Amino acid sequence: MKFQFCCSAILLLLLSSCATQSPKVINNIIRDTIVINKITEKYESVRIADLDKYKISTTNYPAIGKDERIRFLIFHYTALDNEKSMSVLTTQEVSAHYLIPDDFTDSIYLLVDESKRAWHAGMSYWKGINNINFSSIGIEIVNPGYYVGEITESNPNGWYFYGYPNHQIKKVAELAKNIIDRYQIDPINVLAHSDIAPQRKQDPGPKFPWKQLYEDYNIGAWYEDVHKNLYLSQFPYAERDSINFIQSVQNDLNTYGYEIQKTGVWDEQSKKVIMAFQYHFRPERCDGILDAETWAILQALILKYRN
Ligand SMILES: [Zn+2]
Repeated sequence: MKFQFCCSAILLLLLSSCATQSPKVINNIIRDTIVINKITEKYESVRIADLDKYKISTTNYPAIGKDERIRFLIFHYTALDNEKSMSVLTTQEVSAHYLIPDDFTDSIYLLVDESKRAWHAGMSYWKGINNINFSSIGIEIVNPGYYVGEITESNPNGWYFYGYPNHQIKKVAELAKNIIDRYQIDPINVLAHSDIAPQRKQDPGPKFPWKQLYEDYNIGAWYEDVHKNLYLSQFPYAERDSINFIQSVQNDLNTYGYEIQKTGVWDEQSKKVIMAFQYHFRPERCDGILDAETWAILQALILKYRN
């Protein structure tokens, strides 16, 4: 027997209560429409028209020409504590599909159904695609962000970022892995907010453990050391500030996926893109300067993923 009911009202109630009270655990993923599959007797999510006069057949003619709308997984930090993160993400326009608190519970919060667009990326771009909200799952991670301290040569903004505790990263990893597997998300499309909006965003920052996630969980993209070392010896120090070289670097960053103008000068927009690249792939020094190691890593990534 087909059993069908709408849960929009329940979802609304739950979310609005989260906004005013302390965060609540949502144990079940609540979808707009839930049905029980007659054959498997399992719950399934379907979103189809519900007509008065006509019957819509759902079983006999399934097409094979189809794929997932979700192509990207985007990580953020909230720069707020658990309670404020929940409040902002459920009462203001900004949102994300999932929120991962930094407490010691095993809770992860679903704020937006995966079949819907969450408003987490804003103006964004990756490899020819704009407005990444349309095609992404967004994960907000509770983390204070950064504090402003001493400006040094290696830290020209004086931004000192906070790390992520291991118990929280374990949650991030298991959730991310599940999403990546279900949607078959390409490793190069598992990204930071700063990757897709480098001119205005820093999150989840250089303390986000991209290398650990790649090595321990096979999440996202990472370069091969052997390739990096090969390119390190080829860095053209003498031409570093030539128009041709700068344009080639801007072109390479764009080839990998970043939005960057090919101006041929080390301008502010290039610096911000290089800094976003360093947050992700060379977090030990994020100064926005294209040094030999940054360049070698970029080449190694292009060799591995963009050839
Ligand atoms: Zn963000």
